[in-house]
Amino acid sequence: MTPSVPPATDNRPGSGADLLLPVPDDDGAPFWEYAARGELRVQACAGCDALRFPPRPCCPNCRSFAARWQRMSGRGRIWSYVLPHPPLLPAYAEQPGYNAIIVELAEAPRIRLVGNLVTAADAPLNSVDPARLRIGAPVKAVFHTMPGGVTVPRWLLERP
Ligand SMILES: [Zn+2]
Repeated sequence: MTPSVPPATDNRPGSGADLLLPVPDDDGAPFWEYAARGELRVQACAGCDALRFPPRPCCPNCRSFAARWQRMSGRGRIWSYVLPHPPLLPAYAEQPGYNAIIVELAEAPRIRLVGNLVTAADAPLNSVDPARLRIGAPVKAVFHTMPGGVTVPRWLLERP
């Protein structure tokens, strides 16, 4: 789940080819596979049912190694956000005024995912007016396939 710079397979301006992409590891690979199917899932312990994120092999609650992937509604609230300022990586400097948000999931408020609030799944990262960002605002997940093929969750305001 460590971000890295992907290989430059598409260098057209605005193509997003140089945006940071997730690098799935063994524990996290199912998260991205479900995302590619338009499903937001998190690990659930098969022993005690505790939900956990980020993905990892052992339950921090009961220490079981047995787990399943439980589908979430995709609904949550903005727990926090930032508006990154320069200096930015070039691909991000092309989209000034973009946001990075932390979303707490409706079913599991202790689980928080980092992402971007956008106006549509494939909209630019700066498609939401920063003045619209509010802590506590209800959001819902959508899925965007990045250059290179990985699909990431992004977030829409429930009340645009
Ligand atoms: Zn457990």
